[in-house]
Amino acid sequence: MSDNDEKTATKPSAADGQKTRRCAACGAALRSQARYCAECGAPIEEPLSNKGGETNAKPAAKDKTTAATLALLLGGVGAHKLYLGYKTEGLIMLALTVYGAAVGYLCGFALINISVVGVALVEAVIYATATAAQFEETYIEGKRPWL
Ligand SMILES: [Zn+2]
Repeated sequence: MSDNDEKTATKPSAADGQKTRRCAACGAALRSQARYCAECGAPIEEPLSNKGGETNAKPAAKDKTTAATLALLLGGVGAHKLYLGYKTEGLIMLALTVYGAAVGYLCGFALINISVVGVALVEAVIYATATAAQFEETYIEGKRPWL
């Protein structure tokens, strides 16, 4: 019972910034949401590139804020490494944390855990303070594994 869904399809006015479309038949300028030319009445085809939304953005870019947040909250288990696609490094951190927890339990001082979390926190700061361009260059394209 959701007959009202179609009525919400009206686009917000954010589309006004697009280039002026023109009628393929007569060349008249068209309103952004026009489906028929006001001058000659020809039907207007929707541009295919418009279907997916913002297609000019880079595909699935990793977000430095997300990486920094993961490093801050879950860095000890390598969550930020896995997010950035550094599977080996993420598993190393996870293994060190598990190993460090066992050693820390036995000897009463979790030095390994503190070290791993320390690395993660430093990385969180580095991610957070890098510019988006620096972050992408270093960690997405550069694939620098540590710090
Ligand atoms: Zn026309």
